[in-house]
Order: sequence, then structure tokens, then C-alpha cells
Amino acid sequence: MAQITLSPPAMPAGQKRIAVMTSGGDSPGMSAAVRAVVRQTLASGCVSYAIYEGYQGLVDGGDMIKEMQWEDVRGWISEGGTLIGTARCKAFMERPGRLTAANNMIERGIDALVICGGDGSLTGADKFRAEWPSLLDELVSSGKRTEEGVKPYRHLNIVGLVGSIDNDLSSTDATIGCYSSLQRICQAIDYIDSTAFSHQRAFVVEVMGRHCGWLALMAGVSCGADFVFCPENPPSENWESEMCSIVRKHRELGKRKTIVIVAEGAHDRNLNHISPTMVKDLLTNKVGLDTRVTTLGHVQRGGPPCAYDRMLATLQGVEAVKAVLDSTPETPSPVICIVENKIVRKDLMEAIKLTKEVAANIEKKDFAAAMKGRDAEFEEFLQAFNITTATDKTDLLLPAEKRMRVGIIHVGAPAGGMNAATRAAVAYCLTKGHTPIALHNGFPGLCRHHDDEPLGSVREITWLDAEQWASKGGSEIGTNRGLPSEDFKTTAYCFEKYKIDALFVVGGFEAFTSVSELRKARDQYDAFKIPMVCLPATVSNNVPGTEFSIGSDTCLNALIDYCDAIKQSASASRRRVFVVETQGGASGYIATIAGLSIGALAVYTPEEGIHLNMLVEDIKFLKDQFAKDRGHTRSGKIILRNEKASSVYTTEFIADCIKEESGGKFDSRFAVPGHVQQGGIPSPMDRVRAVRFGVKSLQYLETMYGKSKDEIAKDPMSAAVIGIRGARVKFSPMEKIEREETDWKDRRPKDEFWMSLVNVVDTLSGRPKASRSA
Ligand code: ATP
Repeated sequence: MAQITLSPPAMPAGQKRIAVMTSGGDSPGMSAAVRAVVRQTLASGCVSYAIYEGYQGLVDGGDMIKEMQWEDVRGWISEGGTLIGTARCKAFMERPGRLTAANNMIERGIDALVICGGDGSLTGADKFRAEWPSLLDELVSSGKRTEEGVKPYRHLNIVGLVGSIDNDLSSTDATIGCYSSLQRICQAIDYIDSTAFSHQRAFVVEVMGRHCGWLALMAGVSCGADFVFCPENPPSENWESEMCSIVRKHRELGKRKTIVIVAEGAHDRNLNHISPTMVKDLLTNKVGLDTRVTTLGHVQRGGPPCAYDRMLATLQGVEAVKAVLDSTPETPSPVICIVENKIVRKDLMEAIKLTKEVAANIEKKDFAAAMKGRDAEFEEFLQAFNITTATDKTDLLLPAEKRMRVGIIHVGAPAGGMNAATRAAVAYCLTKGHTPIALHNGFPGLCRHHDDEPLGSVREITWLDAEQWASKGGSEIGTNRGLPSEDFKTTAYCFEKYKIDALFVVGGFEAFTSVSELRKARDQYDAFKIPMVCLPATVSNNVPGTEFSIGSDTCLNALIDYCDAIKQSASASRRRVFVVETQGGASGYIATIAGLSIGALAVYTPEEGIHLNMLVEDIKFLKDQFAKDRGHTRSGKIILRNEKASSVYTTEFIADCIKEESGGKFDSRFAVPGHVQQGGIPSPMDRVRAVRFGVKSLQYLETMYGKSKDEIAKDPMSAAVIGIRGARVKFSPMEKIEREETDWKDRRPKDEFWMSLVNVVDTLSGRPKASRSA
């Protein structure tokens, strides 16, 4: 007779023993997800376990299932890969393996499992849950457990987190790790770019992605590649001549380099594999280019997670624990997804079914259906890529009478992605037959135009001018903070003189203000009765009408790199806390999201301000923290303070205060990264969003075609802001946003979606509520 082992008593109502596991291929951000799950579990009064080495650990049990404490995951947020290991486990594929796994879980009293992995891992998880009642029955009937012993664990909770660099799960816009991988790829291509340019060479770059071309497509969009091969959207039957013709055309236009990106699973419409060597041979033999192949390989998986993946992993980890605690025996297993900017729970099995259908549709050569299985965003990116590279497609040209002269202007401080947005807008204009006109150096630049100077501040942009801008930081057409109200008359004169039919304004709060001013001045100036779109681009992310401005992701990445370096120094000296001053104007967005992404101890925002009691409580908290983690190798501590959080409690003052009050037990320094935060090379996320929004903005301006000046003046949508709002990308009427949603005094939206995230930073750092209850 088998020996009956006792399981621990059930947890009190509302509490659980929640285990977290990483499985399948690793991806950057998995460790951050584990940290978030562990800490949120503990903060919810539950018991936390980590299962090491994926399902193998669950089957092996013993030391592979470890109870986790708060300190165990310190510093994990910035680590690459997964610190609890991952594996592929054959035993779990079979019922006996799963039976052993179930027994190991009951032994610890674990009744909830959060699994971070790809579709295989999540399929296994759901199967486990479906089988769970019968597995428990078998444990009882085989005499391993008693009916009484398994009773508290009859209901198993499974929650999925998608960790994968491929971004191959349908239902979510991004998987944990995909943007870090994209960052690695883009960095490599940016480097290849300069050598390709020098030698006028062509490069064929192979990237990961067996069934999913997300990485290939996004790399193509953000690096301005000439051609991309994705499995779910194979090229046309005569792809060889199509690709050669596009490349030749780009060279004829003056391009010195050629980049073609091939997903590892690329194939033609008959599923014949397209290899990088085949592409290379074509470029060499048919186009006559000196061509090289670069296979990026595992470098795409490695390295620390980018800011977005840290944030995504953290917010999704927190949501996973909430989903466990909300679940009832009737709730289907959820998978935590993100749609645009919204973390949502979706049905795990449904998501996996959709994902599997994509692969099956590819097998069936039904590529239209395969594309449908991807997110709407994917299709839009594909269109944006095609339209910005299709220099040889005359069928897209509009009839002469529908073509517009589009003014493009940058306003405010430079931000990553401004150039990429402009490049996309220019390429779009040229493909459709519009004339893109750069209004150099903002409104003051426009007003300083010289009537007789052919190369003045107003110039038509050629395809080749803009071609180089995909990955460039700063503003190639120049930007300026000046507003149109400084000289409405000359601005209107210039609009008329250069026959501007539509205006595309890229920039931060000043860009927003400019469009608002032009809209209001339509009563006096007919020249302003044209359609206008503002594309928010600022590191501060403080533009009303959107939850996300391009440039803010570049800023976050620059800031986390800076903080990671500082944290290392603080860890090495063991007893030091850094107070880091962030930009962001009167918006605490950057400070808060950076705080989430580096695991800051506390974040001081202008929205909340800084109070004496806050400092007192935070110093107590610091003392407590330093007392706990003697000798911990990842003990670097950072407090982030937004530049305008307080006019009295400056960054330096806070650092001095902490030092003075530490009683000599620890040290404190302050650091100001300043303009480093504007970033050098824009992040891929900013670049791809810039391209998508640039193209969408131009398409939007086109919809206003044919309206009379009076109709434009009366149409609230004729001056709009493009933005992400919750789960949607929307154009919102300027007139409504400026009236209802703008805090003009503090130059930020009245309602800032991220405000509640300060609580998440606090929960995960363990900061006591007393700090913020002053
Ligand atoms: P990646 O996206 O990196 O491939 P993945 O999670 O899809 O990640 P898989 O190798 O497919 O990786 O799955 C990881 C593990 O999940 C497997 O080794 C196995 O233990 C378990 N697993 C996968 N599919 C099943 C299944 N159908 N039934 C039970 N367990 C499964």
C-alpha cells in the first residue's frame, strides 16, 4: 500500500499558496515577472513559491519547489533571461508526469500556478487544469492521498503570462521579451547600416521567428529596411523580381545601402523555404550588389530587458496574482494580455486556439486568414511598411486634383521618433502623390523665411532626404518651442504663400498648444482653415489626448540604463541610496514608469508633491531596508524624484537629509541625468509607433480632402490629436481636449492614466502606506 503523505492545512479564505514558473524558451523580462508575482503574492497575504526549471521542477518536486521571501527577488527586475530557470520537459507531456506534478503541488498545498511561457507551456498548463480533478481522484484511488487531504485543493487556478521573444501569441499586442529582442535586433542592424552605407553594400539579416514574422516586420519598420520576409504574409509569386525591382528603384533614387530582413521561418506562397542565401544570390546576381548575410542568432534572446518589458512583466505579474485571487471554480483560465495600452485578462484557451490557427492557416496556405489571426496592429504595421517602401507602385497615386501640399513641422524639444514619423509621412505622401513640405525650425523658423531664398526654411522633402531618418535621434528638420501666436500674421502669410493644404505637427505640449492656437485663430485667418493633426512626441508624455507620446520610451530606456549603472555602484558599496532626478516637466509619468522598471524604492511626482512627513517615513523605511539586507549583492537603492516634484525639497536636499538622518548607517548621493534622457538613438518602440502614427495621421488628413474652408472650420475633427487611449488608437478633436481634458496651468492632461501605478511601485518595493498618507 502506498504511503499517505499529509498536505498542509488549507489557507484562510481569500488567501492562497501561489507558485510561479517560467517555461519554454527564455525571454528578457521573465525574471521581472517572477519578482512581481512573488512580491504581489506576499503583499496580498498569500504564500509564494517558485518552481525552478519549468515543468521539470514541478515533476521532480523537492528542492525544485521553493518558498519565496521578499528579499529573494531583490534586483531581479533588471536581469535578463529567467533566474528560476526554464526547461523543456518531456515527462509533463504524459499523464504520469502530470500526476507526479499534482502530487508535488498538493504536498505543498499549492493551489494556484502562474506560468510565464510560450503557447506550448500555456497549453500544458491548461491541460493540467482540465485534468486536475481526475488527477486528484487518481491520487486518492491509488492511496497516495486521502479524500480529506485533497479536499481543500479541488480547484486549481492557472494564470498565463506570455513570455516569448517572438510575439507569437494571438490576443496580445506584445509578449514579455519581444521588445527587448527587437531592441537587440535594431541595434545590430543600426550597426550594420553604417558599414553598408560606407561600402554601398547590401545585407541580408536573418532574425528569429518560425511561424511569426513580428520581429522581422518590426525590425523592417524601425530600421527602414528595403524588403522583409514574414511567414504569415509571404511575398507574391514572383517575389524574386518584385524584391529586385524595389531594391533597384531605391538605388536609382540614390540609396547607398540595402537591408533585407528574413524571418527564420520565411517561405514563399507554396511554403518553399526562403533562405538568406537565396536572397543574397539574387541581390548579387540580379541587382549586382556586393551582398553579405548576417544571422543574428541567440544574441536576440539575451541581455537585460528593455524598459517596456520590465513594465509589462511587472504590471502583468501583479495582474496575474489579482486574477488568481478573483477566480472562482467557474472562471476559465485567464492569460494576461496587453491591448494598445491596457492590461486585460483574456481566455487562455481561446488565445491558444487562435495562435494555433495561425500556424494551421499558414500550413493550408490561407495567408489572409493567418494575417487575420494576428492583431490589427500587425496588419497596420505591414501596410505602413509597404506604403513607405513601395516607391515603384504607381497604382497608389491619387488623381492630381486629390493631391495635397502637406506642411510638416516639429515643435518643442526634440524627442526620439520625431524623424521616423516624418520619414513615414514623407514616404506616404510621395507614394500617394502629395507634396511633403518641411517647415524648418518650428514656427519661428517658418516666420523667418526669406521670400527670395530658394533654400529657405520651407522646402519640399525628397524620398532620399527622409530615407536616412528612420533611426536618427533629434529633429532633422529642426524644432523650436516658439508658438504661432508669436506671429500669426506671418504664419498665415507663409501658409498661403506655400499653399499648405494640410498640416502635420509633431512635438510635445507646445505642438499641442500650436494646433490649439491655429484652430482658435481660424476666425481671423483663412489660411488656418486646413486639416491639422498633432502627433504627440515628447519625453515627458504630458500631451493631452493620448496616453503615450513617442519619445517617452526612448527616455525611459536611457533612464533605466543610467539607473542600472548607478544601482550597480550603490550595490557594490552596499550602503548607499541614490536620489535620481528625472525630467518630465510637471508630469510624473517618466519618474513613475522608470520607478516601475528599475524597482525604485519610492517615486516623488509633481502631482503628489513631497511632504516632510513623507521624507520622515521614507527615511524610516530606508533604515529598515538597510537593516534587513546586510550583505545582499543586489542591495542598490534608488529613489526617483521628478524635477518639479517640489520647489523646496530639491534632489540634493533630499539626498543630504537622508545622509544626515541615517545615523552613519548608510550613505546617500544624488544624480541628475539631465538631457541624457532625451536619448541618442530612438528606441524601436518609438520608431515603430512613429511610423504607424505618421502614416495614420496622413491617411486621416486625406479624409478631409475636398471640404471647403468653411466646412473645415466648422468640423471639430479637422484639428485633431492622434493618440492611444486605453485599448484603442484614436483621433480626438482638439476643441474638446483643450476645453475638457487639459490642465493648462501645469501643462499636462487632467486625468493621467498612470497615476495608480505609483501604488504598484510602492507595493513592490514594500514602501509603507504611511509615507504617502500625510
Ligand atoms: P517557445 O515559445 O519558446 O517555444 P513554449 O512554451 O511554446 O515556448 P514548448 O517547448 O512548446 O515551449 O513547451 C514547453 C514545455 O511545456 C514542454 O517542454 C512541456 O513540458 C510543456 N508542454 C508543451 N505542450 C504541452 C502539452 N500539449 N501538454 C503538456 N505539456 C506541454
